[in-house]
Amino acid sequence: MYAGSKAFFYALSRSAALKRLASKYGMATSGSFARRFIAGETIEEAITCARKLQGEGLLLTLDYLGESVRTLEEAMAATREYVRLMDVIVAAGIERNISLKLTQLGVDVDRATCVDNLRRILDPGARHGFFVRIDMENSPYTEVTLEIFETLWQQEYRNVGVALQAYLRRTEQDVRRMNELGARVRLVKGAYKEPASAAYQHKAEVDESFLRLARLLLDAGTYPAFGTHDMDLIAQIRAHALGRQIANDRFEFQMLYGIRRDLQHSLVAGGCRMRVYVPFGRQWFPYFMRRLGERPANLGFVLRALIRDR
Ligand SMILES: Cc1cc2nc3c(=O)[nH]c(=O)nc-3n(C[C@H](O)[C@H](O)[C@H](O)COP(=O)(O)OP(=O)(O)OC[C@H]3O[C@@H](n4cnc5c(N)ncnc54)[C@H](O)[C@@H]3O)c2cc1C
Repeated sequence: MYAGSKAFFYALSRSAALKRLASKYGMATSGSFARRFIAGETIEEAITCARKLQGEGLLLTLDYLGESVRTLEEAMAATREYVRLMDVIVAAGIERNISLKLTQLGVDVDRATCVDNLRRILDPGARHGFFVRIDMENSPYTEVTLEIFETLWQQEYRNVGVALQAYLRRTEQDVRRMNELGARVRLVKGAYKEPASAAYQHKAEVDESFLRLARLLLDAGTYPAFGTHDMDLIAQIRAHALGRQIANDRFEFQMLYGIRRDLQHSLVAGGCRMRVYVPFGRQWFPYFMRRLGERPANLGFVLRALIRDR
């Protein structure tokens, strides 16, 4: 079921007809179904949402949605949009933290241009005190993502970190590789459909891997982030930190916008650092479908909203 529902929703996410239908209804009104997970289609909507979250004591990272671009022009446009986003964030006075994907910056088109694009974001980012997180995409991109990250690290960029996925069999090695650099890692379970040769297929195996890797990261003391809504894992991570006398401000939890808001607030109330990943933009369909794949029960609210809105 765990891998099966991801595969089903992955197949649906490639349907052009479904994408057209979703694009028409998903964000059309303030109550439309995609708004549960997406902050809006414009930067301005994202800022309004981010301000509200920040006012509630939550930390933020903003993600301008987009992935798998096919031309250098699209990659440049996404890069310019990120630079504009940073300007707007500075002007709005909200927290300076963004997340991005390398396929959005053109890694499929030309690797060197992708690195240049990333620098075009990191340079003004460093001047304005931004932290930039590179999301991790599906396994064909794991190695290239880490290599690009290491290239930038060697060039003394320090306002950047990477995400690693606990479901991949290779990740323990990658955690050790990042720990050796002293780099900041966001650990997540992993959101893509992966073959059994690359990734654990059962929830229990993924959870076991997550906890083992979380402990390695905590012990390395590199200010790790744990991107999960899994209450049991969060409790075990907190217990490990307590046992090792690792203070609450030496790591953070992260959750996705619209998911487990109750838990987000209870962690803040319990003295934890809690960052919300706030996605926005017109290219929300693949992101949205990954959220459905993680929890097929979400399909119920989509269908109800569709029937209501049509
Ligand atoms: C901040 C952040 C950044 C991320 N970045 C990446 C990345 O770079 N690369 C990547 O591959 N993945 C990324 N992910 C997604 C991640 O890999 C998982 O797919 C996602 O977090 C669901 O797994 P989980 O850890 O919450 O555990 P699960 O075992 O899937 O879920 C635990 C509980 O969380 C709740 N929950 C989880 N998902 C949903 C949902 N969609 N709708 C409603 N409730 C839900 C449910 O209560 C569920 O019982 C990120 C996740 C977060 C929180």
